[in-house]
Amino acid sequence: MKSDHTKIPQATAKRLPLYYRFLENLQTSGKQRVSSTELSEAVKVDSATIRRDFSYFGALGKKGYGYNVSYLLSFFRKTLDQDELTKVVLVGVGNLGTAFLHYNFSKNNNTQIVMAFDVVEEKIGQEVGGVTIHEYATLKETLPDDVTVAILTVPASAAQGIADELIEAGIKGILNFTPARLTVPETVRVHHIDLSVELQALVYFLKHYPI
Ligand code: ATP
Repeated sequence: MKSDHTKIPQATAKRLPLYYRFLENLQTSGKQRVSSTELSEAVKVDSATIRRDFSYFGALGKKGYGYNVSYLLSFFRKTLDQDELTKVVLVGVGNLGTAFLHYNFSKNNNTQIVMAFDVVEEKIGQEVGGVTIHEYATLKETLPDDVTVAILTVPASAAQGIADELIEAGIKGILNFTPARLTVPETVRVHHIDLSVELQALVYFLKHYPI
């Protein structure tokens, strides 16, 4: 099965990690086949969408048979670069940054925060969750070439300046946990996760769109 990333719509690509995690669990429990209905119930995506998503990968489930779990997993592993470790840098070791360093994605996939930066003197040189905190002023010299993804957990007021410097240092993707909306060149991708906005939206939906 050949993966042609350009042909996968972005909405489908966003669901890949979700499918991947569920299929990994299935394989661990020894299951070899899965139907789109089973998948649909587990990942809460309707089965027509799943079938359409999977058709982009050239994976066509047979009626009454379902999808082959290990076949799909090996495809996802390649597509999501799971055979390769993706190294990530974190900037801002406050409450949220500290939590990420302890969590460090180790249970889910091959993504790992390999270094962190902060400006507070007492934090520099310390290890949190096995990750060393470096002095932010040394970012450009210290950041290895193979680290192109950054997590931003700094105060909003510092976010744009830090994003600019991260990009100068070779970062191509930023997961922005600050409320600041970042301006970046077209060659850089920013995913924005504002936890308080997400929570507010959930509360609003509960109130105004009861299930
Ligand atoms: P959080 O927002 O994660 O709960 P907090 O309330 O503990 O954190 P913030 O003021 O949001 O602290 O700052 C987050 C972290 O970002 C702190 O450790 C702070 O020292 C660090 N920080 C602030 N400015 C910069 C900067 N310019 N470069 C790097 N780190 C910075």
